[in-house]
Amino acid sequence: MSFTVHGLAVSRGIAIGRAVIVASSRVDVAHYFVKADQVESEIERLRAARKGVYEEIVRVQGSLSELGSNDAHPELSALLDVHLMLLQDEQLTSGVKHWIVDRHYNAEWALTTQLEVIARQFDEMEDPYLRERKADLEQVVERMLRFMRGVASPVAVASPAPATGRADPLVDVPLVLIAHDLSPADMLQFKQSVFAGFVTDVGGKTSHTAIVARSMDIPAVVGARSASHLINQDDWVVIDGDAGVVIVDPSPIVLAEYGAKQRKGEVERERLSRLKNTPAITLDGQKIELLANIEQPGDAAAALRAGAVGVGLFRTEFLFMGRNGKLPDEEEQYRAYCLAVEGMQGLPVTIRTVDVGADKPLDRTPVRAGEDHLNPALGLRAIRWSLSEPAMFLAQLRAVLRAAAHGSVNLLVPMLAHASEIRQTLALVQRAREQLDARGQAHGPVRLGAMIEVPAAALTVPLFLRHFDFLSVGTNDLIQYTLAIDRADETVSHLYDPVHPAVLQLLASTIAQARAAGKGVSVCGEMAGDVAMTRLLLGLGLRSFSMHPSQILAVKQQILRCDTGKLATWAHSVLVAEDPAALMAD
Ligand code: PEP
Ligand code: MG
Repeated sequence: MSFTVHGLAVSRGIAIGRAVIVASSRVDVAHYFVKADQVESEIERLRAARKGVYEEIVRVQGSLSELGSNDAHPELSALLDVHLMLLQDEQLTSGVKHWIVDRHYNAEWALTTQLEVIARQFDEMEDPYLRERKADLEQVVERMLRFMRGVASPVAVASPAPATGRADPLVDVPLVLIAHDLSPADMLQFKQSVFAGFVTDVGGKTSHTAIVARSMDIPAVVGARSASHLINQDDWVVIDGDAGVVIVDPSPIVLAEYGAKQRKGEVERERLSRLKNTPAITLDGQKIELLANIEQPGDAAAALRAGAVGVGLFRTEFLFMGRNGKLPDEEEQYRAYCLAVEGMQGLPVTIRTVDVGADKPLDRTPVRAGEDHLNPALGLRAIRWSLSEPAMFLAQLRAVLRAAAHGSVNLLVPMLAHASEIRQTLALVQRAREQLDARGQAHGPVRLGAMIEVPAAALTVPLFLRHFDFLSVGTNDLIQYTLAIDRADETVSHLYDPVHPAVLQLLASTIAQARAAGKGVSVCGEMAGDVAMTRLLLGLGLRSFSMHPSQILAVKQQILRCDTGKLATWAHSVLVAEDPAALMAD
């Protein structure tokens, strides 16, 4: 039966494919296709894991009886019997085999997919005893996954997932991923994956998970509430990333309609790609700087392909996330920054110091025990975290300064609000230089920039202009903190309003003051890449935009049609309007 789930449109385009439901706890399992001639060896890995786990359990049972503790723990022995039984369960074994043979999933992926199928059946059972067997099944699968982790897959190394985001032609079934939640780090892991679209139950429009989805240029809908419960493994799904709608089990007519929309989108992209080498100049001759936001050094290629004239925001925190506490040292960071600098072939690269915290936890568990009453967006985040970890911060600063010896580098600091934070940050930059001098290590000059993303900063712009060479407005956070709306919370996303008069006034005055002081100012929040905002930002005097590479050409198209002289008067009327959104359509 066909039905529709509504969520938030976060990454444009249409994806049509079969659903892969991934439980949040299993998103770190590798997802890739195996080739036809590797199917047998993949099944063999699975057999070996089953045999290994079987022997493991039998060993544990043996040691229990040796200790004479069998009588003392009859439940434990009975539980292990259940695990042995589940391990050989026909539905598990044949189901997993089906995903490998018919779909060419790697063994781990096949195993977790079948677990999800059976887990749902358990959920629907009336008998509470049987329902509880789900936990046992999960434990058995976890044991098998652990066993397989110990025995690396030769296939995973030899044949990484296709980088196209499309299905393997061997199998030719496009797949879309449905999950309750994905952390930004999880999303990043799927960057080189097989999925043609994403849907999550939770998340806001400018949550970092949504931002990474947009950077992948793959249709995505977040905040779709109970999508991961309503949709079943293997259901056919249409993801409309423009409207924020997910259609499950669509009728042939609906499928044809979306197929046509999908083709139209492809034609539009093709048309836009011709603008790559066209300079971004308005009708009245204003030259506009279009920069790229990147998450990894490798994204520099996409930035160049889109015609970016530099990187306006390198979110370095993605080098730090999902590493189980083992943070990258100075050398690893230095290599990563050099890669980005080299990748941009002489164009400037703005490296932002690490911005972890809030919806970008270092590791998967965002909240520490006993701290779930705290609001991480107001906590130890971004520069606050860096200043609380001076050794780590100095290592990052040294790595950036060393990379600056190889090209044009700007250093950008997130979430500053206090004069004392500015003083400490600048003192640490100086200390990092002295440390490099003492080591005799080469380093280069950097232009220093401050992000304006807290109302306190937007209201004290002259302080920032005295200490920094340029400003970059982080509208994602500026909106969040001005309107007291958690950007990652879909339940208040309707109040997350980029054109709220308070936001516009802070934005307009920041741009005006920076320009009057002759200093550079750009916007690097999602607003910069939203074509519906281009005219307004130009009208407010913005001449530098930083956004995901996938959005650059569409924004450029808008710019080419604009006359900034005419837009200034109109933007002023939007700025003073009681309901700016009503004027935006003019
Ligand atoms: C912003 O807040 O607008 C910004 C660009 O930083 P981030 O989205 O990484 O918080
Ligand atoms: Mg921010």
